[in-house]
Amino acid sequence: MDIRSTIRMTNGVEIPTVGLGVWRVENEEEIRSSIKAAIGAGYWHIDTAAIYQNEDMVGNAVADFAKREDIFITTKLWNTDQGNAKAAFEDSLKKLKTDYVDLYLIHWPSPVHNKYVDAWKALIDIYESGKAKAIGVSNFGISRIAEIIDATGFVPHMNQVERHPFYQQNELAAFCASNGIAMTAYSPLGSDHFAEIAEKVKPLAEKHGKTPAQVILRWHYQTGWVLIPKSVKPARVAENADIFGFELDEADMSFMASLDSGMKFLPEPDTATF
Ligand code: NDP
Repeated sequence: MDIRSTIRMTNGVEIPTVGLGVWRVENEEEIRSSIKAAIGAGYWHIDTAAIYQNEDMVGNAVADFAKREDIFITTKLWNTDQGNAKAAFEDSLKKLKTDYVDLYLIHWPSPVHNKYVDAWKALIDIYESGKAKAIGVSNFGISRIAEIIDATGFVPHMNQVERHPFYQQNELAAFCASNGIAMTAYSPLGSDHFAEIAEKVKPLAEKHGKTPAQVILRWHYQTGWVLIPKSVKPARVAENADIFGFELDEADMSFMASLDSGMKFLPEPDTATF
């Protein structure tokens, strides 16, 4: 397996296992150099969102460095647009300079807006129009996923959630697996807390002659998750894709499992007020 590896979603669409995250990359030069480095390292999957305010820059960089059809693009519907999903989706397409996305997600359930069932119905229409090759949700827990399935009979293809060694999401992953929903790990390196996780996995990194980031990302891969690390440093972008030439053994995987402390770094989706 290599950077071309994919996970097949239930509708047959294959999502590349490794993608480049671009949250908090709002400077055109940084986006360009990060995407250029990613494509040079073989990435073919970019994860953006309307709220990141860089869809236009992602669209420009993809047009400059690749063919649109060679890149898998994920974008997301922002919370305040849940009652206006179709127009928001068209706006994302325009900014990305494309007539389809590979994956479109409801970014957060956002219970304060209480419109995610309506938004899910709109995403189903978008999917049926062919303009999104797959659809899903992000930051959805078990009860909210069950709710949108009950309301529509349509099972999301993907759920994208916070996941790293300190917050492994095993219960949610088991529920999604039993419903055929693929999983993407966001903040796979622990986001702003990478150093704390890196310190813990240092012994494994030394054992395999790899970096802590590579050990963490390899663990996501071996547990069957899509992973979307962000870096604006070209050397790190390449490092984060170089996870296919070694394998964590059973003892390594048990050690990684033991790091699950339930410590999450991003807001709790069910109580978030945005
Ligand atoms: P990550 O877990 O990807 O960590 C990114 C941080 O780690 C940055 O500070 C980066 O710094 C640093 N880093 C990256 N690679 C390395 C490396 N090899 N060695 C050391 N440090 C490294 O965090 P994010 O929170 O950005 O998550 C990744 C992506 O997930 C986002 O960009 C976004 O696309 C998605 N996401 C989705 C959310 C959702 O609600 N659906 C929420 C949060 C994220 P530097 O850039 O300087 O290298």
